[in-house]
This record gives sequence, structure tokens and C-alpha cells, in this order.
Amino acid sequence: MIPVKEAKSIIHKHIPLSGTETVFLKDAGNRILAQDIIATFPMPSFDNSAMDGFAVRAVDTKGADQPLPVTLKMVGVSSAGSPGDITLGPGECAQCMTGAIIPNGADAIVMVEDTSGFSDTDSVQIFQEAKTGKHIREKGEEIQDKDMLIPKGTHITPNEIGTLATFGYGEISVAKKPRIAIFGTGDELVEPGIELKLGQIYNSNLYIFAELAEKSGAEVVMRDVIKDDQESLRAFLLEALKTCDMVISSGGVSMGRFDYVRDVFMELGVQEHFWKVAQKPGKPFFFGTGESTLIFGLPGNPVSSYIGFMEWVWPVLDVMMGKSEQNFLTGILKASFPREKVKCRFLFGKAWMEDGKLVCKPSPKMGSHMLSSSLEANCILGSKTGESSLQPGEEIRINVLPWKNIK
Ligand code: AMP
Ligand code: MG
Repeated sequence: MIPVKEAKSIIHKHIPLSGTETVFLKDAGNRILAQDIIATFPMPSFDNSAMDGFAVRAVDTKGADQPLPVTLKMVGVSSAGSPGDITLGPGECAQCMTGAIIPNGADAIVMVEDTSGFSDTDSVQIFQEAKTGKHIREKGEEIQDKDMLIPKGTHITPNEIGTLATFGYGEISVAKKPRIAIFGTGDELVEPGIELKLGQIYNSNLYIFAELAEKSGAEVVMRDVIKDDQESLRAFLLEALKTCDMVISSGGVSMGRFDYVRDVFMELGVQEHFWKVAQKPGKPFFFGTGESTLIFGLPGNPVSSYIGFMEWVWPVLDVMMGKSEQNFLTGILKASFPREKVKCRFLFGKAWMEDGKLVCKPSPKMGSHMLSSSLEANCILGSKTGESSLQPGEEIRINVLPWKNIK
């Protein structure tokens, strides 16, 4: 059994980068950027109107108000996408819509609400004095040409997609999705939807793995539940080692009489780096490498499998895709946490804000077979080794489940 820290550093020595590919912007959501995104022009790229109204020379509107309007000559229309080639002389104005180019000579916009309105007549009354620059969005006021917008390694979410589109990135370079094989083992496993016989249970872990893999940005290309027999395992693994960047298994790596997964990994030439880690849950935890495949053998208890994926596999997928490092939070315990003498302890938990502080508590269901402990959870709490339980008021590390919120 090796300490968690040592296991992490062994894994880190073996993580390959997943390479890059170009995708259309419409397919870029949830991918990891493999290029820096630089402004290809200033934003706004030209002076334009923030309001539907009239482009004026501010000086011409001096003293204008409701009882004493100023009358200006209307010389044209500038609308978004159709600038017209307009130059204002003294006493002149032009209709100018939101987003439209400011005509030459104009230095302010008067909102249409402060005028006699849009019409086809050739004059307009202005009811409000305009200040120079009023309602004009200036070229470059938001972003300068060549500004760094989004660094490589960023997870592309709706926040990034809009800016990529704004600057005309129709195609972008992203990290390739790691190709993953997931499998579960066990003669007792039955697919949901089929009736259970005595001693059977439903396979939950592969559904969890598939969902987590997809959320992490990877692609599941092989998926199967395999009986506890060496022949079936061998066939699946042989194919997976040939075609996948990562193999993740659940079950069959403990000390049970029918736990063949490790044996078959070894038989197929997988190099074992460790098999047991000082953690609870999930002590039997195999990590090995094939020629170009990482292999994670997680124990079958559903909580061990789930937490094992989040604590070990997810961060590795992040590194493979070049994603910027994951940051853990620290919270203050509102209930005691069962720290272990020689093992790191992980439990599903709930974190929330209270009096401006981040606080948390572990799920009261602490067994590694109690998957309903994930139902109320928005995080995984993790403690280092220690002589006694952590007490309310003490700090603990919080790994927020990325698709959950802290309220
Ligand atoms: P194992 O690691 O194979 O000894 O399995 C440990 C426990 O996890 C046993 O109670 C198994 O029945 C259960 N288990 C293994 N695989 C799964 C799975 N895919 N879904 C739900 N439970 C599982
Ligand atoms: Mg089993």
C-alpha cells in the first residue's frame, strides 16, 4: 500500500498529452482550447451608436430643451450594416440606429425619445442638449487589437463561445477527446430494466463512469459489463489496449477469489505501477500503463468507483487535455469527519455558504456501498491522515463536483 501523494506523483510521470484537432465553433462547447485566443481587431471595431436616435454635432444642440427645441436638417440614415456615406455640416443631423456607424462630423447621439421622432421629413426637432461623446461606443473602448482574450487550456463554456464568435473564430484548435474504454466486472451484475434474480444487483457504476467521462470531456468508445471469467476479460482488454488512451474498470481488483482483472492486465503486458493506495474508500486501486494506454482499476463498490473517478481519473483527463490546473477549496466543518490514522479519507459531502464563510459536512451514510450518499452531495470532502476525527470548526479540503453549485 502506498500513500496517496506518492501514487499521484507516479501517475503524473505517465500522463501523455492527447494531441489537438480543429473543430467548427458550433462543435467547440465543453472542449479544451489548444490555442491562445487573441483579438483579431479592436472592439468595437468602429465608432457606433448605443441608441436608436440622431447623430448630431453636440455644439448644434446647445440650449435645446422641451419648450425651446433646436431644429436640425436631416441629411441621411445610418443603420446597422448600411452605413451610408454621410458627413454632417453645421446644423445637420442623421438618423442613426443602434450599432450603426457614426457619420463623419457627428460627435454625439440624441435618443429618438428626445426628438420629434423618425420621419421622412428633412428636419427634426431636438428636445435635449447633447454632450460630446454621448451614446457613442468608441472604437477599441472594450478591447484593443491583439489583446489576449482566452488562454490555451481554458474549458470552453457559453462564456467563451460568444467571444470566440465575436472575433470571427469559425474554427478553433482544441484538445482531442481522450478515447476511453470502461468496463464493469461481476457475475452478479444486471442491467437496469431487467428483473433481478436472487443475489443479483443492478450495474450502476458503468452508468456513472459514462456520465463522468462525458462531463470531463472524454469520449467513451468501448463499454461493457464482463462476467468474472478470464477469457471474456482478455478479449475486451486486448481490444481496449489497442484502441484507447485510457481503460477504466470497476470491480474485480480486490482480494476476492474471482477478482481476475489485475491478473489479466498483467498477462497482457500491462506494467503495474501500484495496486493498493492508502485511502478509504478505494484501497484496492490499480494503476498501470500499456504501450500508449493508461489503466485505472477501481474497486467495485459504487462510492469507491465514483469517488475514485473524481479524485484520480478526472484530474488526469484534465492534464491530458491541457486544462488549467484544478483548484480545491477549503471549508469549515459543521460536523465531525472520521479521519483515519494511515489512510486519506474521502466522503461525499455538502458545502454551502453561511455568514459569508464556506462550510461543509460529510454525508451521514459513510459505507462505500451506500451510493445514495451522492444524492444530497455537491462535493467530495477529503482529509489527510490523522490521529482522531476532525471536529466541527476545523478545516477540510472540498472538491466541488463541477456540475453542482454551492449556495
Ligand atoms: P468487487 O470490487 O468486484 O469485489 O466489488 C465490490 C462490490 O461492488 C460488490 O458488492 C459488487 O457487487 C459491487 N459492484 C461491482 N461492480 C459494480 C457495478 N458495476 N455496479 C454496482 N455495484 C458493483
Ligand atoms: Mg466483483
